Amino acid sequence: MKVIPIQQAASAIATPDMTLRPPAGELLFDRRGRSVRDLRISVTDRCNFRCVYCMPREVFGDDYAFLPRRELLSFEEIVRVARLFVARGVRKIRITGGEPLLRKDVDRLIGMLAALDGVEITLTTNGVLLPKLARRLKDAGLHRVTVSLDALDDTLFRRMNDADYPVARVLEGIEAARAVGLGPIKVNMVVKRGTNDSDIEAMAGHFRHSGHILRFIEFMDVGASNGWKMDEVLPSREVIARIDRLFPLEPIDPNYEGEVAERWRYKDGAGEIGVISSVTQAFCSTCTRIRLSTEGQIYTCLFAQHGHDLRSLLRTGAEDEALDAAIAQVWQAREDRYSEIRTADTAALRKIEMSYIGG
Ligand code: SAM
Ligand code: SF4
Ligand code: SF4
Repeated sequence: MKVIPIQQAASAIATPDMTLRPPAGELLFDRRGRSVRDLRISVTDRCNFRCVYCMPREVFGDDYAFLPRRELLSFEEIVRVARLFVARGVRKIRITGGEPLLRKDVDRLIGMLAALDGVEITLTTNGVLLPKLARRLKDAGLHRVTVSLDALDDTLFRRMNDADYPVARVLEGIEAARAVGLGPIKVNMVVKRGTNDSDIEAMAGHFRHSGHILRFIEFMDVGASNGWKMDEVLPSREVIARIDRLFPLEPIDPNYEGEVAERWRYKDGAGEIGVISSVTQAFCSTCTRIRLSTEGQIYTCLFAQHGHDLRSLLRTGAEDEALDAAIAQVWQAREDRYSEIRTADTAALRKIEMSYIGG
């Protein structure tokens, strides 16, 4: 994967002082006037699942070369970068992967991030390690969790995750997270037409009255290995129409400007659902997200073809000012709006994999 070295913005090289707070910087704006508010941190490129739309086994097989440990950012490096982003306006940090709960001692990282002022810490997981880890994550300071679940039918779910995990394991994970207070829990279902759309109504029925928020995500052309085709995208408006026929729905206002999921609630008071329509209704104009990859590249778009190398700055002793200037340089040059300009040709571009960059 091509990585662009960031021009060393300041010549000062020194041993980084982890106790120093970064200067409270001004908000950063990109070329389309968007500020940076959400930081997604991928803590591992490994996963115990092989979801067909994310890490197809034909590509991510036994001989796949995952990143060696020394390539991964350490927790101290991650927190140093996160602290600089927070000083530039980031208010939400999401830990992701790969499967983030596979990263050893991830609760220690969460504790370190939770110590940053004024930032919400969330995590996206496939859920199967939550029964073991939910209490530790909560105690470390995690605020909320999002759990992915693509079907309720066990045979279908095992086919989707391609690693023989049963639905029951994920439901246990959701329950463990609820029991320790990591809710309200969002449950993400990626909908692939012809593969798991048959379970939309069952999923809706299951999560009504649960207090969890089920969100339907359009299948996206992330990465270069999931064989994405437009005909396998089920537009969110069809998902809403199908659920509405069984359980009448009405739209509700977003929680905040630029919220990615469009919110709907059951008219009978059974709770709310969301749809994330990244393919059929692009939301690039309000996209305030930046991603830090497992090995310390920053990506200004989920569909980026290259990242910007922060790790080499971190590992050559750059001071906070130099790192901050590098971050500012990348964000201020940002023009991304991939979902607005997607075509069959762009879908074929060699983009970064979701399991590496984090969703
Ligand atoms: N392993 C964790 C999980 O599955 O929740 C975190 C990482 S995963 C890459 C983050 C989210 O991206 C998941 O909800 C997953 O379903 C979603 N995702 C992965 N590939 C996708 C695709 N091609 N289209 C839409 N969503 C996708
Ligand atoms: Fe793993 Fe999550 Fe990708 Fe599934 S979606 S393969 S659980 S990283
Ligand atoms: Fe943001 Fe890129 Fe997605 Fe548009 S395509 S919403 S710029 S991540």
